Amino acid sequence: MKLDDILKRATREHWAIGHFNISNLEQLRAIVEAAKNLKTPIMIGVSEGERKAVGIKQTVALVQAFFEEYGIPIFLNPDHSKSVESAKKAFDAGFNSVHIDLSKLPYEENIKGTKAVVDYVKSKSPDVSVEGELGYLVTDSSQIYKQAIEIPPESLTKPEQAAEFVEKTGIDRFSGAYGNLHGIAANEPKLDLERIRNIRKILPENVSMVLHGGSGISDDQMKEAIKAGIANVHINTEIRIAYSEALRKSLKDNPEETTPYKLFPLVISAVQQKVEEKLKLFGSVNKI
Ligand SMILES: [Zn+2]
Repeated sequence: MKLDDILKRATREHWAIGHFNISNLEQLRAIVEAAKNLKTPIMIGVSEGERKAVGIKQTVALVQAFFEEYGIPIFLNPDHSKSVESAKKAFDAGFNSVHIDLSKLPYEENIKGTKAVVDYVKSKSPDVSVEGELGYLVTDSSQIYKQAIEIPPESLTKPEQAAEFVEKTGIDRFSGAYGNLHGIAANEPKLDLERIRNIRKILPENVSMVLHGGSGISDDQMKEAIKAGIANVHINTEIRIAYSEALRKSLKDNPEETTPYKLFPLVISAVQQKVEEKLKLFGSVNKI
């Protein structure tokens, strides 16, 4: 099954595929269990830091093993590859989705590098979906901020530029800045729904829209964003919190326990529960 076909269907039917990040086997198991339970296709993300922690080849092998055993569509994505080389390296290792994020670079350089990745991937595997990013998200990593964060309107992605970027790069998935941010701020981010709608209108039908920084966005805003055209939502921080809180509790409740796998069931179910909650919110239940 092609990721872009699923995304096109999601756009048409107004639901979204969940993209969840992992940095170990327990998180991966929790996410795949949730997806299997709710019969939904799933994307697994690994950032450059997470790739370093798990290993690129190791991640591919783990995801492949779950795919063979569970038989649900799982797409492995090198989340926020910050260079052409890093995106190519993940693709060469067997990732079946690509994300190249050169949004920090000047516009022309972003186009050039993103197009280089698209050309490389499509020359070898035309079915592999490539995501590019335009409009820089103000916060950098998966953090919980104590202060409120205001997003300057001029940093948000302009629809005409989004259309030009897509045309010049040939990407399949478009990721922009619509008021979203990475991590969780003290204030709830306010999504610019009108901007999402306008970008959706101007982009070709076969290009789908991605929302990064899905953690900390209210259920109502999320539903509206999906209705406005978002077909893929990234969640990292919220499942990291579920993971670490459950692990702390598990260690506290079982001070004598030394066997790791006996400490993890609580952790896995906490992450799984959070993922299932999000998948239901995204409307992606019973799609396979
Ligand atoms: Zn992101």
